[in-house]
Amino acid sequence: MKKRDLYLYNTASGRKELFEPKNDPVQMYCCGPTVYNYAHIGNLRTYIFEDVLRRALRACGYNVRHIVNITDVGHLVSDADTGEDKMETGAAREGKSVWDIAAFYTAKFMDDISALNIQQPDLWPKATDYIPQMINMVKSLEEKGFTYRTDDGIYFDTARFPAYCDFAHLDPSSLRAGERVDMGDKRSVTDFALWKFSPKDSKRQMEWESPWGIGFPGWHIECSAMALKELSESIDIHCGGADHIRVHHTNEIAQSEAATGKQFAKYWLHGEFLVLDKGKMAKSGGNFVTVDKLKEQGINPLAYRMFCFSAHYRSPLSFSFEGVEASAHGLNNLKKTIAGLHSDESIIVDKEYLQKICKPFMDAVCDDLNMPRAIAAVWEVLHDKSINGAAKRLFIEEADKILGLDLFSVDEEKSSEIIEEIDGVKISIVFKGDLSNNLKDSLIEKVVSRKKSRAQRNFAEADRIRDLFAAAGVIVKDLPDGATQCVVDNQQKAEDLLK
Ligand code: AMP
Ligand code: ZN
Repeated sequence: MKKRDLYLYNTASGRKELFEPKNDPVQMYCCGPTVYNYAHIGNLRTYIFEDVLRRALRACGYNVRHIVNITDVGHLVSDADTGEDKMETGAAREGKSVWDIAAFYTAKFMDDISALNIQQPDLWPKATDYIPQMINMVKSLEEKGFTYRTDDGIYFDTARFPAYCDFAHLDPSSLRAGERVDMGDKRSVTDFALWKFSPKDSKRQMEWESPWGIGFPGWHIECSAMALKELSESIDIHCGGADHIRVHHTNEIAQSEAATGKQFAKYWLHGEFLVLDKGKMAKSGGNFVTVDKLKEQGINPLAYRMFCFSAHYRSPLSFSFEGVEASAHGLNNLKKTIAGLHSDESIIVDKEYLQKICKPFMDAVCDDLNMPRAIAAVWEVLHDKSINGAAKRLFIEEADKILGLDLFSVDEEKSSEIIEEIDGVKISIVFKGDLSNNLKDSLIEKVVSRKKSRAQRNFAEADRIRDLFAAAGVIVKDLPDGATQCVVDNQQKAEDLLK
């Protein structure tokens, strides 16, 4: 099948490149969550960008094998290989076992993923299931002379890998100047742990036998070992948040390429951060916003997905509840416009014509996933009077395969009903949100006056009131029990026209 041209910005080359994968299916690895706490919506911004990438690859005609790991051991509080394991601190915080913490936050993460319409990858490898593969990889690095031993672990000797600084354009002299950070027995500040020994004075909950002593893997080796086992030595795409460029991904490249002698990943894509006024949103910061928090505020998680499309994935995005609410409003407008499209089933939409309509949208997506432009392209099609409703609906079906916004779904906003009896007239009012007293009074007044006009055979007046209701978007029905029901769609409009 002919593939559509897709351009992606490759961190490794620092420019947009035409995507030309080595493998079929395309092999895509994304660094996954460390499951010691809830994922915050910043983390989830990164998974939304990766989800759009995978959907775009499929739409461009590629088969994809996509894996996202679960880090359930070895991610230390500090990138400098010091401090405690985040999983063990999570367990201590909650008085639970590390395994329980991992199971709980993995399940919570899965709920968030599905609330945001992020498609499941083909596999979720869990770091603790790959300890033998990690040990084998460290052994192979040791045999090739890339490691040394210190009191607390086996380290990768970055001096043996001359290309170490290339990927993140690190400046070796500035790195040396920063050597005041806790170095332990490391020879260089950039060296990193492949295997850490368990502390001598305390027992860890997660530890394994190894040729070097009881301990646990370093965080970086986890991703390399899982990618190697579940994909191959030379994969097509590797993704993560932009914070991973300098340390985690630089280390993954060094150890993988030292072990295999092959290019580890051809395309490296990084999502920029979701930021707060006061800086980045971080799990360790404590003040983070979760999907549950959005739901508590009455915000549909897909409004957050829409909010993420308001910036390019390589630009920082500033979070505010007002911003997400504006996106919720935008999403509702989009859905209402789509729900109102006239679709004549008898109209046959020509495939080539449909492709032509889809082109500006797909061009934006294929230009390094330019989602703000893609959303603008959706509105352009919807506003274009020369395109019929049937073609518009087919276009939205195609676009939503990438957007994942459930554009055809109808929101089930809860309705409330109040029933009043005035002068022997029973009235039921069905409405959404809070009913204002003004509107309630005008509705009652008009219903009562319509009943009286009918009883007095003043049909002209009864019809005038009926037309007024229709203009105000209020549907009036006479129920079998004699009550009159008023269904209010848009309270503001009804209030303006009925006052
Ligand atoms: P973690 O669970 O901390 O390992 O992070 C999971 C993913 O979220 C990684 O790809 C991080 O780079 C990414 N990430 C962390 N913080 C943010 C943020 N504020 N905005 C966007 N992505 C983030
Ligand atoms: Zn990783």
